[in-house]
Amino acid sequence: MNDELISIAEEAREHIAYLRELGVENYEASAVLASVALPTPKVETVRTQVPPPRPIAAKPQTITATAAESSFWKTVALPSETLPASGETFEQIWADVGDCTRCALCQGRTNIVHTEGNRKARLMFIGEAPGADEDAQARPFVGRAGQLLTKIIEAIGFKREEVLIGNINRCRPPGNRAPLPDEVVMCKPFLLREIAAAKPEVIVVMGNTAMKNLLDTREGITRARGIFQDYKGVKVMPTFHPAYLLRDPSKKRETWEDLKKVRAYLDSTSRSNA
Ligand code: URA
Repeated sequence: MNDELISIAEEAREHIAYLRELGVENYEASAVLASVALPTPKVETVRTQVPPPRPIAAKPQTITATAAESSFWKTVALPSETLPASGETFEQIWADVGDCTRCALCQGRTNIVHTEGNRKARLMFIGEAPGADEDAQARPFVGRAGQLLTKIIEAIGFKREEVLIGNINRCRPPGNRAPLPDEVVMCKPFLLREIAAAKPEVIVVMGNTAMKNLLDTREGITRARGIFQDYKGVKVMPTFHPAYLLRDPSKKRETWEDLKKVRAYLDSTSRSNA
């Protein structure tokens, strides 16, 4: 029991440090304790079957071809369940992006905002699209939401430059609206090529728009967050977008729970580079 109490105290201390780090000043001790593992009561319990986590309903991947179509299929790569092999560099991918005019977002942009960070990262963060600061500096997540993201990254023991940070769309939508489906269709393939080139072990996808577009799902972030999903063999953790956390700081607690799962998963695997 002593060990258990010590570990609860350590987890509570760690959680309080995290809340302070993220700027939460007022927190209830009882709420902090509720967020850490409490000792199992020593009473007789009846074992119940816990259902496995409910996976997000993805669009069906199975494609059946009639005999008449089979020669066509031979020439077309079917959707793969694992990341495609990639010998590409980010520079090659960005050269293909070029001075992009594939969608209307090009009209309002100052800069194209490419993915940045460690190209051998174990961990990647994906947001929606650049805002005003990112558009001005040509770097993802450098505004207020970006500063909070940096704190979140550091709270789980990484430096910002050790991870990869990107967006589904590379040009700022007017008024920071969500990118439209035709804008996503044009831009997302470049991000998917970067994912294939970098092969991160875990992707943290932040917010509804980014999650829906990466995982091709209609599920909302509130239900999906905190449950590992799969993108072609890469573990994907959906969580709240830092801009949302700025609007509703009470959601930082759930984000912390999600990020702890990511840290625990990375700790449980052996790849040694950051
Ligand atoms: N919000 C995003 O989704 N991406 C950024 O780069 C900045 C803010």
